[in-house]
Amino acid sequence: MIAAETEGTATKGFAVHEAGTNFQPFDFVRRKPRPNDIAVDIQYSGICHSDIHQAKNEWPDIMPATYPLVPGHEIVGRVAKVGDAVTKFKVGDIAGIGCIVDSCRECQPCQSGVEQYCIKGAAFTYNGTEMDRVTPTYGGYSDKYVVDENFAMKVNGEGDLAGVAPLLCAGITTYSPLNRFKVGPGQKVGVVGLGGLGHMGVKLAVAMGADVTVFSTSPSKEGDARKLGAHNFVLSKSAEAMEPLRNTFNFILDTVSAPHDLMQFLGLLGLNGVMVVVGVPPEPTMFHQGSLIMGNRSLVGSLIGGMPETQEMLDFCMKNNVRSDVEVITPDRIPEAYDRTIKSDVRYRFVIDMQNV
Ligand SMILES: [Zn+2]
Ligand SMILES: [Zn+2]
Repeated sequence: MIAAETEGTATKGFAVHEAGTNFQPFDFVRRKPRPNDIAVDIQYSGICHSDIHQAKNEWPDIMPATYPLVPGHEIVGRVAKVGDAVTKFKVGDIAGIGCIVDSCRECQPCQSGVEQYCIKGAAFTYNGTEMDRVTPTYGGYSDKYVVDENFAMKVNGEGDLAGVAPLLCAGITTYSPLNRFKVGPGQKVGVVGLGGLGHMGVKLAVAMGADVTVFSTSPSKEGDARKLGAHNFVLSKSAEAMEPLRNTFNFILDTVSAPHDLMQFLGLLGLNGVMVVVGVPPEPTMFHQGSLIMGNRSLVGSLIGGMPETQEMLDFCMKNNVRSDVEVITPDRIPEAYDRTIKSDVRYRFVIDMQNV
């Protein structure tokens, strides 16, 4: 009996054991499902740029890497086991797991359904610990995850599940600000940058009914921007193209994490316009306060989304047939996928097929 109580969930994963080294197969044991837990057989796990930063320990001050590190917080799979108290899922359902897997559940943000801002600090899906602050969390580059049902999302519908995985980070990161500022028909919306985040921003803003313009520094992205549904494409380094657009946008979603000039885009906002940043350039950014004061403009930040909004986003995407554009790979190709993601040589997300590991 005691052995049965302590036995866990044998899991096959892929880990980096030290900064600068490659992924290796890594077998570990997840907890046995507790009454409120589900055990998920992972089918697909997206590769988010933050996986790369953490695997390489490039954020030592904000997110120092703890090894062995199994990344992955864009997870979709089939529910294989449910605890006795689980009500939301049954065996065979499709579940999604995003960037956090627990939080204190008592503080004001947790009570408000924005668990990502938990005052005590949420439990991240990987490179973190459970709320006991001891047990390490390992992410979705693995074949199983055990999670409290309150931190798993229902994927209502089948179809292309590989394209669903990136919704759990890139999707909610862009949906949340678009939703918060009620982007919709009759609004002029700009999306700055067309990478993993930007391509989701375009698809979502188009599905919400807005008139969408993509701003990019690379002319080669124009065809793709239009294929994703964007109504306009503007080369942001062209002063001639940018100048006539001043004071014309309701909302701009800035997804760029490379150094860039914020004022160039703030100037495009009309009266009461809002620009939301979701990318984090390595160095602080300078801008002139006048570019906010003129026009009563707002510059706002946004971090993923809480559990209720993440579920809402998934439901919106399933209903409106919004998926991430993905390139599916086997786990042995993770290093190649990392190199290509760093070079922006992916349209638009790598997703690892974890079904046959
Ligand atoms: Zn992510
Ligand atoms: Zn909390």
